[in-house]
Amino acid sequence: MTEKPKLGVYICHCGINIAATVDVEEVTEYAQSLPNVVVARNYSYMCSDPGQLLIKNDIKEHGLNRVVVASCSPRMHEPTFRKALQEVGLNPYYLEMANIREQGSWVHEDREAATAKAKTLVAAAVAKVRLLEPLTSREVDAEPAALVIGAGIAGIQAALDIADAGFKVYLVEKSPSVGGRMAQLDKTFPTLDCSACILTPKMVDAANHPNIELLAYSEVEEVGGFVGNFDVKVRKKARYVDVSKCTGCGDCAKECRLANRFPNEFDEGLGKRSAIYLPFPQAVPAKYTIDPEKCLFLTRGRCGKSPKCVDACRAEAIDFEQKDEIVTFKVGAIVVATGFDVFDPAKKPEYGYTDYPNVITGLEMERLVSASGPTGGDIVVHNGEEEITPKEIAFIQCVGSRDQSVGNEYCSRVCCMYTAKQAHLIKDKIPDATVKVYYMDVRAFGKGFEEFYDRVRREGIRYVRGNPSEIFKRGNKLVVKVEDTLTATPLEDEFDLVVLAVGLEPRSDDRKIIDLLRLSQSPDRFFLEAHPKLRPVDTASDGVFLAGCCQGPKDIPDTVAQAKGAAASALIPLARGKVAIDAQVAEVIEDTCRGCGFCVSICPYTAIELVTINRMGHSVEVARVNEALCKGCGSCSAGCLSNSIQPRSFRDRQILPQIAALGGIR
Ligand code: SF4
Ligand code: SF4
Ligand code: SF4
Ligand code: SF4
Repeated sequence: MTEKPKLGVYICHCGINIAATVDVEEVTEYAQSLPNVVVARNYSYMCSDPGQLLIKNDIKEHGLNRVVVASCSPRMHEPTFRKALQEVGLNPYYLEMANIREQGSWVHEDREAATAKAKTLVAAAVAKVRLLEPLTSREVDAEPAALVIGAGIAGIQAALDIADAGFKVYLVEKSPSVGGRMAQLDKTFPTLDCSACILTPKMVDAANHPNIELLAYSEVEEVGGFVGNFDVKVRKKARYVDVSKCTGCGDCAKECRLANRFPNEFDEGLGKRSAIYLPFPQAVPAKYTIDPEKCLFLTRGRCGKSPKCVDACRAEAIDFEQKDEIVTFKVGAIVVATGFDVFDPAKKPEYGYTDYPNVITGLEMERLVSASGPTGGDIVVHNGEEEITPKEIAFIQCVGSRDQSVGNEYCSRVCCMYTAKQAHLIKDKIPDATVKVYYMDVRAFGKGFEEFYDRVRREGIRYVRGNPSEIFKRGNKLVVKVEDTLTATPLEDEFDLVVLAVGLEPRSDDRKIIDLLRLSQSPDRFFLEAHPKLRPVDTASDGVFLAGCCQGPKDIPDTVAQAKGAAASALIPLARGKVAIDAQVAEVIEDTCRGCGFCVSICPYTAIELVTINRMGHSVEVARVNEALCKGCGSCSAGCLSNSIQPRSFRDRQILPQIAALGGIR
């Protein structure tokens, strides 16, 4: 810099977060002694309005042209302090933060050592801030449309909110119908609303909304571009039924040569469907689909003399010539709402799920008890050849949750309450049934949950504290072997039906979405939010937001709330019509770049490409950074052998003096 550096250094107490471990007075005195420091102060909360005012006044009064704030992580408050600088006319990038909280007071106990480290971090920040260059962030136009991936309740809600705000939404659903898991539920806890009754109107609204383009039975294949300008490619899979002609009459499925031959996925395999099918009666769109892996014509080239579905269809809707279609469009923001898988209880062989038909999952129970389910809502099981109404029923909690042995340490947050609800529904339908719930501890944390848990216990549901070790068969009965841990009594209780309260898991096909959108996973393998508290719906990929169980297990109210949050966040770039591009991105020195492309292969955000330029009359290839995609991570810089690519504000000439200062060299 040509002008003489005039630095202000501000040490934050962060209440007692920093001040209890770091001697902030001593650090301030030390900062005052550093080269070019005009003013050094400490204050209880630098991020507060009075704290920022302190900085702004000093900039004006002392003519400061560089600022160091020694406080928390820049992830937390760098934007706050940049804004303060900008408000008094100083370039916002003339700021350096020394993290004396996360890298200081929070990780050290020794006050003297923590104070010494804080001084070193401040000296390093002072050494760098003098060399920072002024930068200007840019804005680019944002496409006024959004993509929502997944059309369960989270995706539907997010799509409706964005569409209601006046923006176009592409709602992409992998299955033939929207609705997701919620459509499979009978009643919802703790209010016992009929799930279909509250969901179906939303499904229909989403399909009919003038701003929503529903792409059901479709998958996102490619996502390019960046926030505000994503290029999306979607594959609309062939249904082999012309949806513009299909009336949903169902004659084809009745007449199909393979009528009712295959387990119906929607009924968790408890009911049957044909090779041509509607997933469930309230499906949206109400159009039939031919299963290409089951249909005789599609797998073998012929189905009898002529396909019976074709003969049955008066609307002439069957179309075996139909092909997958590729649809491309641009959007400004993306909401991921891909949902969850249920835990496969076969991974707990001691519970005999694959051995005994009368050991079922909670979701199977949901279909069994549902009026739209395969038994019309009658709870019946097979006892040998006989069909009986079970009179002794057990629920086992936490199957696949809070269980290190299957790799799921987390609580699935819904199993305690869906068990209470199903136990209530069983008592309602079979009043003389004995229902026992084996639990580790009951987590009834939501609004009205504890009251509902009390209610089912008053209705006679027995809760036994113990984690069953085994289920085996004795005669026609299933035996649950368990120790009642409240009375230290070993038990072998007999039942007609055992329901495993299976937990929620990340979807097995999540990897595709992770690769498409460059998402990260938390240790529980669900998608990782940008910050667990302050940015719970954002991701590390700008313009990509999370809604529902793809981010972690949650119940319906929390899912809807998060979907609304994701929609509100996605609406910000769409409503502004612009997105800001950070200026701290990598820059190529074209004169020395050898065009080797090493950085292209390194960049985790595919932000670099090789372009041809004219260098002294010769066409040569050099690297070029797409500033909208670059995250300033610096990986390219570390890899470039000719030092031709460096992130702004992290150039060698800026960080080497900082490193030297860390080593005590000023
Ligand atoms: Fe659709 Fe034709 Fe089947 Fe009726 S018979 S549901 S119109 S494909
Ligand atoms: Fe069923 Fe045959 Fe039609 Fe396929 S072609 S849907 S098997 S009737
Ligand atoms: Fe190769 Fe470096 Fe040029 Fe990238 S910037 S192409 S790594 S010389
Ligand atoms: Fe890619 Fe990181 Fe380099 Fe930017 S700084 S171009 S994101 S490697």
